[in-house]
Amino acid sequence: MDIRNLMEDYVKATVHELFDAEQKGSTSSWCTCDQCRLDVACYVLNRLKPEYVISGRGVAYSEQDYQEKLQKTADVVSLVREAWAKINSSPRPYHSHGAKHVEQQQASGPVYNLPPIMGRLFNGNNFEPIAAGTIELHSDEGLVAMIDANWQNPYPMVKNTAGTFIFWPAPVAAVSGGEKKRFSFTITASLGGFDALSHFLELELPADAEAVRSFSLAKVHKLPDLYVFPA
Ligand SMILES: [Zn+2]
Repeated sequence: MDIRNLMEDYVKATVHELFDAEQKGSTSSWCTCDQCRLDVACYVLNRLKPEYVISGRGVAYSEQDYQEKLQKTADVVSLVREAWAKINSSPRPYHSHGAKHVEQQQASGPVYNLPPIMGRLFNGNNFEPIAAGTIELHSDEGLVAMIDANWQNPYPMVKNTAGTFIFWPAPVAAVSGGEKKRFSFTITASLGGFDALSHFLELELPADAEAVRSFSLAKVHKLPDLYVFPA
């Protein structure tokens, strides 16, 4: 099943168009980095009605009434402006504007695409989700690097995610495509008032020809529910 949101394509194109124009301008004052583009696109898409189509049938979209199209363009452009102003006035704390992202620094070639790793953490005494503190993903080399600045390690546990945490490790270079490697990780938590957590996991992965950058829920590695007990 392949469903696309045409609005997503449209908003992304509009964001790139406006940001590229700003970047070229001599008096550019607003940040035009990839992170801000993503933030703006997300903001706008959360405020517009999606337009789902089955892939391949999207052509009908271009046959729309001209006036309707003009109105939609105006709506999207003004939402992009609104989002951009908001994001420029309150940038993410962990985002350094203008910095190149990890994905752009990485060499091409065969890699192990580590899956996003998701789990839930509960208080073992009352089964309430853990809503404070941090949870960490370690390898033998220490804290595991995440795929980009949108993913955090240590991961802060917050109330509104009902104990859910998720890591997406950065791809690891491989010598050649097709070879297999076993990765070992340990999950620990710094929660305060609880006994130490140490959950071990192993993933055996084949090397892929290139790095995968699009998040897919189907690829997520789900952990069994984890429990910590008050100290
Ligand atoms: Zn930025």
